[in-house]
Amino acid sequence: MKFPKKKILFCFGTRPEVIKISPLIKKSLNYFDVCSVVTGQHNTLFRDVEDLLPKVDYHIEIPVKRTLNFLFSKLFIELEQIFLKEKPDLVIALADTASAYCAAICAFNMQIPVAHVEAGLRTYNVNSPFPEEFYRQAISRMSVLNWCPNENNAQNLIKEQTPGKIIITGNTTIDLIYQHLPQLEVEDTNQVLITLHRRENKDYFEKILKQIRHFAEAHPELKFIFPAHPNPSIQKVLNVVKYSNIEIVSPLKYLDFLKLMAKSKFIITDSGGIQEEVVCLKKKTLVCRDTTERQEAIDVGVCKLVGSNLTDSFEWALSPVNHEVENPFGDGHACDRIIESMERYFDGR
Ligand code: UDP
Repeated sequence: MKFPKKKILFCFGTRPEVIKISPLIKKSLNYFDVCSVVTGQHNTLFRDVEDLLPKVDYHIEIPVKRTLNFLFSKLFIELEQIFLKEKPDLVIALADTASAYCAAICAFNMQIPVAHVEAGLRTYNVNSPFPEEFYRQAISRMSVLNWCPNENNAQNLIKEQTPGKIIITGNTTIDLIYQHLPQLEVEDTNQVLITLHRRENKDYFEKILKQIRHFAEAHPELKFIFPAHPNPSIQKVLNVVKYSNIEIVSPLKYLDFLKLMAKSKFIITDSGGIQEEVVCLKKKTLVCRDTTERQEAIDVGVCKLVGSNLTDSFEWALSPVNHEVENPFGDGHACDRIIESMERYFDGR
């Protein structure tokens, strides 16, 4: 007798989640009955990356202007109905967003097992990144399977006496970027790429942008490109960087953004995921944050934490990167390991 396939349900809603979960959903279709739920946490940014997804079964509509608590209240009600209807054997959340946290806690309340992709990243400061550090710590307490990108992340979970299984897999974003490498021309040009969006940076955006403008004025040979996040705190200070060699553009589709990264001299960002991608592309990066959960990117000499004080670090960013660095975030086979781990879990092994 042939057993029905196990049903796994992916729940996600932000741009980085779509990017990182997409290769896993694609691969999982060969092994499991897959249900994919978009929470609507990001609206316009979702449209830039939705073509990476092989299937969407539910797309929850959320008003654009809302608080985190409003988002939670809406998602709890909607997700419960979806989980009741679909009866998944496993709910899969990725990383640390409000969507991931809601999906995990909603499944936990309904006694549906939860599994966590990109588990074990920590700053141990619940205000940085806010609110993500708390969300990812909480998801680890609920998950039966914790898929960690690397040994450091696994050690964090061991120290915390995490109840579920801990498996080192690599990061799925490395799987995706390796798939795209043949389409990328990695070269050193005179271009500097900028992204900023973190909630906890909102009082510093103007200060950061002023320093970038001064540097741009002093370096007319460089060309700055800034795909500006729709975050209103960024939009309202954009005039600070209106200058001849700084181009402000709309957020880009994933492959277009990768192409820009590949052609950059260096990158300025407060993003989490970009810290992993720049290690693959070996691009020096100034990280506008006080903490990072990706210390490995600093250790290999690709990223530098600068908080909101960039000026003293521009020279560092202009100096060449060490091309010999090994990638601490994965080898491009994270999805295979995650699928194998799910098969073992469903077999009771
Ligand atoms: N990204 C993109 N288009 C852009 C800017 C970023 O596709 O215009 C991608 C980038 O390659 C990375 C992800 O979005 O994979 C990072 O998202 P973000 O910085 O918003 O979130 P975080 O990683 O900080 O959670």
